[in-house]
Amino acid sequence: MDQATALVALSEKDLEITRATKRLDGLPEKQAILDVRHKLRDIEALSAKADVYVAQIEAAVRRAEDETATISAKIVAEQQKVDSGEISNHKELQSLSREIDSLSRQKDKKENEVLTLMEKLEAGKAQADKISATLVKGKAKEAQLISQFQKVGGDLQREIDHMQKQRVSLAAVLDDTLLARYDELRAAKHGLGVGILRESMCSACRINLPLEKVYALGGGGPIAICPSCGRLLVIRSGDST
Ligand SMILES: [Zn+2]
Repeated sequence: MDQATALVALSEKDLEITRATKRLDGLPEKQAILDVRHKLRDIEALSAKADVYVAQIEAAVRRAEDETATISAKIVAEQQKVDSGEISNHKELQSLSREIDSLSRQKDKKENEVLTLMEKLEAGKAQADKISATLVKGKAKEAQLISQFQKVGGDLQREIDHMQKQRVSLAAVLDDTLLARYDELRAAKHGLGVGILRESMCSACRINLPLEKVYALGGGGPIAICPSCGRLLVIRSGDST
């Protein structure tokens, strides 16, 4: 296959692939999958936040419990001093008793703090569980939509895969520089990189080219550049007159 024929075939193949891909992307199932994924991302972010919050409260509970235990140990130690009978000094005993009272108040305060934190923790965990359940439900919905999409879009996808393979074979015929130029133009010009000269019109931009320009192009070989749209212009013998 010559370069010009391969170029035209490649361009036609690319248009077919684009059309089929658009059809595939336009399936309602595809949009539904994208919508669900968008929601899932939001829920995952929420879930991560809820987990961090729960971990923070758990750490705070542990800290408050440790502090309560430390205070309790101090109370026991002070109480043992009182109960041992070793201290007979009245003032010293009074001071110990005041210390124990103060420690007991601190302990009560800490215990209340633990209770408040536990309530917060419970609420936080309930919220995290709720978010997890929503996430599980969302993922099930996503899986269901994917299987639906595969059923509906499977044939179309196989067709696209097949055309992609054909594209690779056609692209292999072209010189590297010509292929690079073509891909560049295709990307820059709405997916269409090649025009064919028909009568004196470029099939891509549909502009009638002045005859002298057409002749000039024709003289340069079967693949030229359209002076109007800048795409590659294939001139088939007999077409340019
Ligand atoms: Zn053109």
